[in-house]
Amino acid sequence: MPATAKKTSRTPRKKSRVSAPALASPQEGDSVTSLAGRDANLPEWMLSQAYAEERPKYDSAVVIGSGISGLCCAARLARSKSFNGKVVLLGQPPAQSRRLIGGLTLRARALDYFAACLGISRSVLLDRLYDGRAAEVACHRQVAARFTRHRNGEYEIGPRGEWMSRWEHQGRILAYGVRNSHMAGTIYEFMVQQGIEWKNARPQSLSDCLDLAPGKKPFVINCNPAPLPGLGGIPVKPKRFVVAAQVPFSAPHREAKGILQTNTSFFCGRRRGGSLDASVWYPLLDPLSPSARMYAVFYRIVRNTPKLHKAAETEVLKDHLVGVGHALGLEPVDPEETMGTAVVPCSDWEANREHTPGYIDLGRLANLGTPIIAGDGMPRAALAAYVTAEALIAGVEPQAYLNHAGGKWRFGNRVTSLAFGPHSWAGDMALRWFPGYGLRLIQDRGETWAGVE
Ligand SMILES: Cc1cc2nc3c(=O)[nH]c(=O)nc-3n(C[C@H](O)[C@H](O)[C@H](O)COP(=O)(O)OP(=O)(O)OC[C@H]3O[C@@H](n4cnc5c(N)ncnc54)[C@H](O)[C@@H]3O)c2cc1C
Repeated sequence: MPATAKKTSRTPRKKSRVSAPALASPQEGDSVTSLAGRDANLPEWMLSQAYAEERPKYDSAVVIGSGISGLCCAARLARSKSFNGKVVLLGQPPAQSRRLIGGLTLRARALDYFAACLGISRSVLLDRLYDGRAAEVACHRQVAARFTRHRNGEYEIGPRGEWMSRWEHQGRILAYGVRNSHMAGTIYEFMVQQGIEWKNARPQSLSDCLDLAPGKKPFVINCNPAPLPGLGGIPVKPKRFVVAAQVPFSAPHREAKGILQTNTSFFCGRRRGGSLDASVWYPLLDPLSPSARMYAVFYRIVRNTPKLHKAAETEVLKDHLVGVGHALGLEPVDPEETMGTAVVPCSDWEANREHTPGYIDLGRLANLGTPIIAGDGMPRAALAAYVTAEALIAGVEPQAYLNHAGGKWRFGNRVTSLAFGPHSWAGDMALRWFPGYGLRLIQDRGETWAGVE
């Protein structure tokens, strides 16, 4: 049986070599898709699912949380011979809401991991997600500019420059826009036949989870943002938060304004009080808001000081959304029903060395760093889910693989965080004087945007 919280150990900081499972050529029917790519430097057997045979050390799995990471992890486990019929998911099937809760910028790389977890092709997933209209929301490039707010309350967009394009990614698409609950709901549609047992339970301890497990030697995967009480370290008071506000837009005057181009996302920001008020604008199709053509999120890193007024910070970002949207020729769609706001704590970027046998805090391991600012939550969640499931099926402990797989993602998040926070003067200067070339300096070189296709 997995150990209790008391047996939580701390592995040494120095790099530990992780034991790989026995390898062989892929068996027929085993290899779903190649995940070729260097964003996570996954071992070959994990990229191609080419391990000799399933040799799990655990006989069942309890997955806590039905967000994207929980769904993906449960789906991959349930597709294996060893865990089929032995996965219990603690949560409720994804609820659909017009409100923009959670992330919408869908890096194309996330689709590779979603598809691999579900055992389907990316194109099948994309077709279902956008009802055959994926090409309308596919982004081939991102353009950046600085905005100004004049005294009369009007917003103006400065000179623009392209800083990310598909040509640096061998012509592959970079990203799409999707409502988070629609993404979760679509993943769910592909897993209803997988024999996963759902329980609407909120465990308060590891032993609660073990009681709900469908086997004698279960592995517990916590995909919720909060750790299980008593596990996952002492909660610290966050030093920083990210404040965010997001809304879908219709595009009645987009062409007349001539700033936003088709198949192009837009980054727009400016410095205020030592941090960047930043935003991204993406094409969006949403079955619950059929008039929506774009979505935008404004976000800002704030320090957790006694002076922090979270509601006031949120109001400024909401004003920016409407003002910049207007300058771009966009109108918010039913903002009273659709606008989402959030104040999310930041964590450190360090890999997590705490280890409790039989348990993994996947939510914590996937989300290390500054949330929202890099639009990397969904791919990180899917990557973490995939790595954890593959390791369990192959019979190796997932934590070291997970820490390793997240390295480039944490680094990219850290660089972005510096440019938006303490060094936002540099980000602001780049946006003002050379928006294209300036931002290219922090351009992703790790293939964390474009997918395989
Ligand atoms: C304002 C904001 C903007 C963000 N922007 C981006 C972005 O642009 N791109 C990006 O990739 N990531 C973004 N993220 C992060 C992204 O939303 C998450 O990292 C991603 O959804 C994976 O989440 P998860 O599965 O790990 O957990 P979460 O989605 O945080 O789920 C936590 C728990 O909430 C519950 N839950 C979640 N969704 C549902 C649902 N639909 N129905 C019922 N219960 C649910 C489940 O119990 C789940 O376990 C953003 C987050 C926020 C708050």
